[in-house]
Amino acid sequence: MLLYGSGQSPIRHWMMQLVSMWACKQPTASGPCGECGPCRSENGGVDVQIIEPTSNPPIINLEMITEVDRPVKWEGVPVRRFLRTPPMMSPRKIVAITDFDRANHRASNALLKTLEEPSPYARLVLTTTRISRITRTIRSRCLCVGVPEPLISTGFWSKTIESEAGQECLAELDQILRIAVDAPDGAALRTGDQLRKWALQWQKTMEVSDRAALTDLLQFTGDWLSHTHPERYNLRSAIQESHRLMASAHPTLLLDVLSMELTGSSRS
Ligand SMILES: [Zn+2]
Repeated sequence: MLLYGSGQSPIRHWMMQLVSMWACKQPTASGPCGECGPCRSENGGVDVQIIEPTSNPPIINLEMITEVDRPVKWEGVPVRRFLRTPPMMSPRKIVAITDFDRANHRASNALLKTLEEPSPYARLVLTTTRISRITRTIRSRCLCVGVPEPLISTGFWSKTIESEAGQECLAELDQILRIAVDAPDGAALRTGDQLRKWALQWQKTMEVSDRAALTDLLQFTGDWLSHTHPERYNLRSAIQESHRLMASAHPTLLLDVLSMELTGSSRS
């Protein structure tokens, strides 16, 4: 998988989330279990390898990807050797390479071989903030996933919404969403009702139009998800789609669709 976007820290957050999900022995719909061996080990344990560019200059070298016939300064295990042996704790062997746009030509070519013939237990994730610098051949062999820059970060919530009533509203939304994502199938109607009420309350509290209240709701929800459930890409794009449709969609209908997406109804 290739994670790309403009924000260094959300990409890293998603990468680590993905690594923990892959490393976990019994992941749940809402993320890694937090209790198994790999979950309790630092950075996912022995079956996880995270490779970052050398510091000065920042480069991903050939020796990080495969063995070379010369003495090297780098002390890690090359990707290809790391993936040669099966996992010990986790169900998979996981390699994460950050800033892959820093890979030189030979490293990039060497990794291509691994991507072409992956072992059944191997999982690789690459990251970049400069997708255009990743060769077409690498991109074509990866599932490329864009990481959105959070529109409003958790910190932003408390900073920009200064009124106490506004803050209380947001705390309430947080509560609704927390319950919704763990709710069983069939809870969509109730969630839809709650969101409708919330939007109405937000509209009054912040003195905005009903449409603006809905836009805020979508933004908050999308942002909330990217912080708490970054692995649910589909849901995030569903929200972005709803956002895009705002202009034409009937607001009530929109909330129903959102609720369906949020709760168990579409969790697959
Ligand atoms: Zn686990």
